[in-house]
This record gives sequence, C-alpha cells and structure tokens, in this order.
Amino acid sequence: MKILYVEDEQFLAEAVKHNLEKAGIEVDLSFDGKDGLDKAIGNIYDCIVLDIMLPKFSGTDILIRMREKNIATPVIMLSALSEVETKISHLDRGADDYLAKPFKTIELAARIRALTRRPKEVNIAHITYDDLKLDEGNATLNGKQLTAKEAKIIAELMKSKEALISKEHLLAKVWGEDGLGEDNYVESYISRIRKTLKELHSKTKIITVRNLGYKLTSK
Ligand code: CA
Repeated sequence: MKILYVEDEQFLAEAVKHNLEKAGIEVDLSFDGKDGLDKAIGNIYDCIVLDIMLPKFSGTDILIRMREKNIATPVIMLSALSEVETKISHLDRGADDYLAKPFKTIELAARIRALTRRPKEVNIAHITYDDLKLDEGNATLNGKQLTAKEAKIIAELMKSKEALISKEHLLAKVWGEDGLGEDNYVESYISRIRKTLKELHSKTKIITVRNLGYKLTSK
C-alpha cells in the first residue's frame, strides 16, 4: 500500500513517514500544495493525506481539484482547526475522513486502513433500483464515479429498496465497528449523494425520515 502525505512541517512529515513505514504503509512526501497537487494527479495512491494550511495551494484546493478531475482516491484531511464546521465543509467537498492535529500515527494508520479496506462482497457486480445502476467494484453510479463511502451508502439504500434504513445501520455498515463514524458524517454523505442524483437527472430521491433514518423513492 502506498500513500501520498502533503505536509509543510518537514520534521513532522518525516516522523510520520517513518512510523507509517514501520506499520507497512509506503509514503511519498510532498512539502507544498503545488507539488502535492502534481503528485496527487500524476500518480496512483491508495490514500492521500492532506494538511490544510500549506504554501502555494491549500489542502482544500488540492482536494477540490482532485475531485473535479474525478480522482476518487480516499482523502484524509489534517488540521489544527478542529471545529465541526471545518470538518463538515471538507466532507462536503469530497474528503473521506478528517483528523485533528496533533494526532497519533497509530490513529492515522488505522484510518488509512479503514478507508482502503476492500469490500467483502466482491462477487456482487451490480445493484439496481429503478433508474439507478451501481457498479460496486468500480464505485460508479450510472457511470459516474463515487467515492468508496458514497458507493457503500447508496448500495445499502438501493439493497433495501424502499424500506427505512436507520442512521445507526449506515454507520455500522459503512464506518464499521471501530467507532470512527459520527452522526453528522452520514448527513454530509447523504447530501453529496443527493447532489449526484440530481446531476444524473435521476427520478430517485433520498427521503429523510426525521429522527429515524433514510429511504429511497422514485415516485
Ligand atoms: Ca501546515
């Protein structure tokens, strides 16, 4: 497994690289936003870790440009700004996880592994619901590239047809038993998927059932 870590504090970057490599994760380092963006676009990584405050381009800029180019590599944002708003705004822009500085390398390693874990049901090729077709292997919905987590969430909703899915069920299915998920993560992802459904001109809608969860409808 190989990741890109974009971090302008070189001493911190080298220390984290050393510890991640001891944990079996190979690390490419970049020390500014422009070089980071070039590497993110020009190479294939299993995961990309972005500090937010960087010279030249910010981590947020890199994230936005990557997603515009349909690069769906899982992204973890790092920042000393631990406010919920910062977290949510990055998840809305296509980040997969967010870690506040200072952090322990062991926690970063756990989150990288959680994001790069291969889905268990590899033999299920397609899931369909009304005008939607999800390819779970490539994480594409009607041909449009989703992030891994978006694909897992829409898969759960599509499999349940029009039955109610609770937030707790989605948290357990998508974020696993390691307790790294939070309620507000689910809402961010649902709003991103709604945007995608609109872009696809799909009849399918995700209905919020207040305090209970979500369900699909195509009426
Ligand atoms: Ca920084």
